Amino acid sequence: MTIAFVDGPVITGDGRILEHATVLVENDKIVKVAEGDLSIPPNAEKIPIDGMTLLPGFIDSHIHICLDGSPDPVSTLLAESPTATTLKAAAAARQTLMAGVTTVRDMGGYNGIDLGLKQAINTGLIPGPRMLVSGRLICMTGGHGWQIGQEANGPDEVRQAARNQIKVGADIVKLMATGGVMTAGVQPGSEQFTEAEMRAGVQEAHKAGKKTATHAMGTQGILNALRAGIDSIEHGVYLNEEAVAIMVECKIPFIPTISACYHIETKGVAAGIPDYAVEKTLMVKPHHLESIRMAREAGVLIAAGTDAGTPFNLHGENLSEIKLLVDYGGFSPMAAIEAGTRVSAHVLGLDNELGTIEEGKQADLIMVSGNPLENIDILLERESIRLVLQGGKLASGDL
Ligand SMILES: [Zn+2]
Repeated sequence: MTIAFVDGPVITGDGRILEHATVLVENDKIVKVAEGDLSIPPNAEKIPIDGMTLLPGFIDSHIHICLDGSPDPVSTLLAESPTATTLKAAAAARQTLMAGVTTVRDMGGYNGIDLGLKQAINTGLIPGPRMLVSGRLICMTGGHGWQIGQEANGPDEVRQAARNQIKVGADIVKLMATGGVMTAGVQPGSEQFTEAEMRAGVQEAHKAGKKTATHAMGTQGILNALRAGIDSIEHGVYLNEEAVAIMVECKIPFIPTISACYHIETKGVAAGIPDYAVEKTLMVKPHHLESIRMAREAGVLIAAGTDAGTPFNLHGENLSEIKLLVDYGGFSPMAAIEAGTRVSAHVLGLDNELGTIEEGKQADLIMVSGNPLENIDILLERESIRLVLQGGKLASGDL
């Protein structure tokens, strides 16, 4: 099938807007992008972009498809049947795709549901974003996320845990460097895995050609992870100059997940969120914003990830992070869109295939009403997402 998007403003994902561009799609690939008119094959389905904007499908670099965004989602998950979790996760995957998010990276699944869902999407059984998944996160005994993670202590056990997750099909190994907000009794700033434990997990993943990611809030944990060779820093609440310098030099991306804190802070205890989570969020917020500012000004690669599935951080509302990068992160709308497209593709190691509207890339494209550079809020309105094309296949909207 050949589709020609014509006459449009096209935000390419790498910081450019082409005002009157034509984008030609053949089967699953973008085959031509040109400013102005282009000779269009007679068999092409012609779609005027007029009044709308064409963008790359968004990539959410940090979600939890098994968490449902309820006020205490880990407790919800542990109390329900695997069938309930699976059905809810399938619905969440569909909502995510309909919102214009064509790819996600899941940063901590449960019961193999993330792995199974990925397969079901890949085989066309259910609609959903392309998924890269971590399987179960790996943490120290009693460490952040232990309720859903695999506990491991000492380099040998961390090595084995990484091997276990890779064996069952994980695309990424997720290692917990510090405490966090959503686990009772752990402090966000405290160090958890040692540098030696982190290094064992990272080496094992790299041997298998897999990337690694770390939940890292406190400074020492962030430094342990960076010195151990981690591939991305999630949350990064207490970055310091040394950490930022390593991230710039080694091009280690930072995924601040502002959405997670934003929803916990704005909904609060009154909405049923555990009080320890709200307290810790309020405590870390000023440091988090300062870390984002430092990283942005220093030129760290910053990608958009929501931590969707955490309280009130709903699947299908993933593009909230793009707006929060503008409102809280000091990003221009163009830079925030780039964080959710080109930079996120880099985080996933898929920048040769996804993230920008360029010849040879996968035809993951969305068309939105109006111009998000003038009004970023339109990305959050479901009715504004007029068309979602994933690998050249229509996922939502009309051709
Ligand atoms: Zn997370």
